[in-house]
Amino acid sequence: MLKDSFNRIANNLRISITDRCNFRCSYCMPEEGMVWMDKNELLTYEELHRLVRIFSELGVSKIRITGGEPLMRKDVHSLVSMLSGLDAIKDLAMTTNGYFLNDQAELLAKAGLNRINVSLDSLDAVKFKEITRRDYLHRVLEGLETIALQGIAPIKINAVIIRGVNDNEVSEFAILAREKPYIIRFIEFMPIGCDDGWNSGKVLPSQEIRERIEYELKMKLVPVEYHGTQPSDRFVFEDGKGEIGFISSVSEPFCEHCNRVRITSDGKLRTCLFSHKETDLKKLIRNNEKDDTIKAVIGEAVWNKEEGHLINQPEFKRPDRTMSQIGG
Ligand code: SAM
Ligand code: SF4
Repeated sequence: MLKDSFNRIANNLRISITDRCNFRCSYCMPEEGMVWMDKNELLTYEELHRLVRIFSELGVSKIRITGGEPLMRKDVHSLVSMLSGLDAIKDLAMTTNGYFLNDQAELLAKAGLNRINVSLDSLDAVKFKEITRRDYLHRVLEGLETIALQGIAPIKINAVIIRGVNDNEVSEFAILAREKPYIIRFIEFMPIGCDDGWNSGKVLPSQEIRERIEYELKMKLVPVEYHGTQPSDRFVFEDGKGEIGFISSVSEPFCEHCNRVRITSDGKLRTCLFSHKETDLKKLIRNNEKDDTIKAVIGEAVWNKEEGHLINQPEFKRPDRTMSQIGG
């Protein structure tokens, strides 16, 4: 088991498989000038498979494939197939901007992907284009329909809410969760993008989002899990199909219960999204080190996992890499 010095168990690994993306969400990347990693820097599918197997032997049972945009990596379904073949992996999920789902959902489902989170910050085509700098809302909505047809469930929609940008849409999203079997998760805006213009005033705390929805829709949300041991507080409607979740990483950080670690697309282990320290696993893999050596290095890095992020404290310093480079 991977235990840290604060007695938390890491059983959940996020792997970024590329830093590239076909969108340019304004809170994540600048419009122009992104410099991508050389492809040789990226872990190959064989290297990822070996690393995930090693992590699984250390107790990791949940994997999320992310990026950048993971569906931009060639034949990603073959990676899904390799990872879903590992017996100890009980939950294999992906976070995507949804653009390629129309073409790839069937292959992903057949390869054994269990769950998908689709990022969608606006239901209005003009606003969507303003946020992502791409006119692709229709593609993402089609992608959502396609994954439902493939039976990949539950479908989660991640919406980053930014005050003054898309906070006027929280009730529209709530209505979507009432009408369709989606889990809409409202994510607080975090200081991790590149040129993202973050300041605490732009964060819409979950509590405020919830109050707005209840006021605007004139109804009470029913808690399913509130301040439990999961990162998302979950609510349902008395008369709805889907669910609403709140991820309050800024207003109510979840660090105390954090069970996650991450691997960047160039093979660095990060024990927190906001870490200032990385452990180079690619070097060990490419040096063909023994499993036991790699396990010992991973074990030590996890043991030294930071207690929590310091977003709300004066000493907070942004990590050097952005979310798209680390893997969101
Ligand atoms: N490209 C894929 C996508 O957008 O779903 C996967 C990578 S993206 C970095 C993963 C998630 O991070 C997305 O849901 C995105 O909205 C979220 N994200 C990126 N920057 C963020 C920020 N500054 N604050 C909160 N969430 C952020
Ligand atoms: Fe791309 Fe995802 Fe970042 Fe948007 S949030 S620019 S889709 S990596």
